[in-house]
Amino acid sequence: MKMNIINLITNFVNLFYPKLCVVCGEPLLETENYFCLECFLKLPKTNYHRSLENKASDRFAGKILLEKACAYLYYNKGGIGQALIAEIKYRGNRDFGEWIGAFMAAELADNRFFDGIDYLVPVPLHRSKERKRGFNQAEKIACGIAQATGIPLNTDNVFRKKANTTQTKKGLYERWENTRNLFEINNPDVFAGKHILIVDDVLTTGSTLEAVAQSLLKSPGIRISILTLAIA
Ligand SMILES: [Zn+2]
Repeated sequence: MKMNIINLITNFVNLFYPKLCVVCGEPLLETENYFCLECFLKLPKTNYHRSLENKASDRFAGKILLEKACAYLYYNKGGIGQALIAEIKYRGNRDFGEWIGAFMAAELADNRFFDGIDYLVPVPLHRSKERKRGFNQAEKIACGIAQATGIPLNTDNVFRKKANTTQTKKGLYERWENTRNLFEINNPDVFAGKHILIVDDVLTTGSTLEAVAQSLLKSPGIRISILTLAIA
């Protein structure tokens, strides 16, 4: 009963405020989801999942041993990739975060990208930051991947110990110092002998993802892979 009323209100609202494309802001057709066809066809896909040697895995070369790394879209300033991340992170569109996660996963699953992966681990936010934002964008993307693949999400074994300050104005050593020991694992046994896929929204320097991976290495026999929605 309650749901029917919500549907009724939603339909009523859509009548006056049609759903808009998350990229260009044009009204969507009934059959379109989040993107208009034009923007959908222009998605800047990397196709990294077709090759284990790609620019995402290059960022971790010599730093941490990974099974594989992949980023789905190019993040270009003022481009579609940036618009999508902004939609999730700053406009707080959690449903879209899950939807694009599932959409990406469906395409990557066709190339068997998720074969053998035991758990999805989104990069944790510090508790204070997650409270402020109301959600963790990496977790929303991972949620969508979990829905599309059936791989369980694990959000309670790794946590962020300190709220780190912004990375952008720091030098290489300071960045390393800033992210070292940033994350901690509660129970290494849970991930022992497992293949973990760490999930994040954007891959930039890779230092945060590397720090998460470092914390996972306390689990004996662990294998680690990385997937992000975009690469800057
Ligand atoms: Zn559009």
